[in-house]
Amino acid sequence: MTSAFANAKKQIDDITSIMESEYQDKKKFQKAVKLLKKPEKVISLSLSLRKDNGKTVKFKAYRSQHNNARGPYKGGIRFHPNVSEDEVKALSTWMSIKCAVVGIPFGGAKGGIVVDPGELSIPELQRLSTLYAQKLASNIGPWKDVPAPDVNTGGREMGWMLESYEKKVGFQAPATFTGKPIELGGSQGRTEATGLGGLYILQNYIHLVGWHPSRVKIAVQGFGNVGYWFAKLASAAGYKVVAISDSSGGVYNSGGLNIDNLARFKEEYGSFTELRIQSKFKSKYKIITNEELLGLKVDVLVPAALENAITITNAKNIKAKTILEMANGPTTPEADKILIEKGIDVIPDVLCNAGGVTVSYFEWVQNLSGYYWGVVEVNEKLKKIMDQAFSEIYEMKRKKNISYRKSAYALAVKKIVDAMMLRGRV
Ligand code: NAD
Repeated sequence: MTSAFANAKKQIDDITSIMESEYQDKKKFQKAVKLLKKPEKVISLSLSLRKDNGKTVKFKAYRSQHNNARGPYKGGIRFHPNVSEDEVKALSTWMSIKCAVVGIPFGGAKGGIVVDPGELSIPELQRLSTLYAQKLASNIGPWKDVPAPDVNTGGREMGWMLESYEKKVGFQAPATFTGKPIELGGSQGRTEATGLGGLYILQNYIHLVGWHPSRVKIAVQGFGNVGYWFAKLASAAGYKVVAISDSSGGVYNSGGLNIDNLARFKEEYGSFTELRIQSKFKSKYKIITNEELLGLKVDVLVPAALENAITITNAKNIKAKTILEMANGPTTPEADKILIEKGIDVIPDVLCNAGGVTVSYFEWVQNLSGYYWGVVEVNEKLKKIMDQAFSEIYEMKRKKNISYRKSAYALAVKKIVDAMMLRGRV
């Protein structure tokens, strides 16, 4: 099993030789880089949940706080059976890099509970969320660490956690959590922000390579918040989304898919593979496996599910011209090398999916000022930040003749290391 944290460290190692020349004091730079390869704090918790049947069950939970040189820690909370210390450490490292890539004043964090939320009732999920926020209360807060939703969590969990945190500290502090429902101080535009941010990056990219949206065929792996919104917004912008999948498998139509129809189908039947059984849809879609989706001959492949989707085993089968990484860590470093050798442009996660944390930052700003913006203002501000980040990364890529990923990491590591040096941490 690939260690996501080993991958994250390798990605930092990969750019140190590129950036070292920018520092007179190489030893200081190396010392800062060494610190960057270790989270500043990892909190491990054991949560005792009272089940509806009166029994108590224990769940492991974590919060990794990676680096706060540029601002309070920031990062999502994941509910998934595969959550591990290794995973939260990796995800918190990527959050530090991501916040620096888009220039928002946060460091990285990530949390999670080792749980299959599908096996708990809603009251059980509420008690578990409440417990997690209660136990973390002294380690989080608007100027300390600002959690948000991630895989299998959303506004509902943030609402429960906010209530639990505020009860514990004794005052209102909506800026402690982002991704909240609008009624609790959430930002307009947050739900679709990650997908929209990815679309802005794609628009910058196709402008650069001279493609026209209507001729760009896209395959998307994953149909959760990120995959759904990206596919929906890309279709609306005129791109041809020809394939999309969930964990059970995917659907393909070379003429393009109707994302809203598929969303309605999934709502009714649960998974895309059910299309095989529902004969009225048979002529419209070809059912494919996730591996087949990854190997489709498309212009843009969008991994938008979980990490380590593209590995050394399947990288050689990839026929897409470009990969737009919307999930966190979907490509292992070994696979990345193969893709680059094949001449595939890989636009990295730390740029493509940074729209989510950017609008989370807007939410935090709005909560702290108590003044709320409309969705047009949010999206305009998001576009400005994504466009700026793309052009900075492209400039560095061109100047140093490196990949998009190395360019993004180089820029981000420099911003974090500079902040660490200015604080006198090294
Ligand atoms: P989600 O839980 O809403 O959706 C995940 C989707 O992936 C589901 O459709 C699920 O069926 C599918 N999936 C799971 N395993 C799969 C597999 N093996 N093959 C194909 N599909 C599979 O999660 P999300 O919020 O959409 O997040 C997806 C990714 O994007 C994660 O890596 C997350 O960390 C990252 N991300 C999310 C946000 C956000 O704002 N939600 C922001 C930045 C990054």
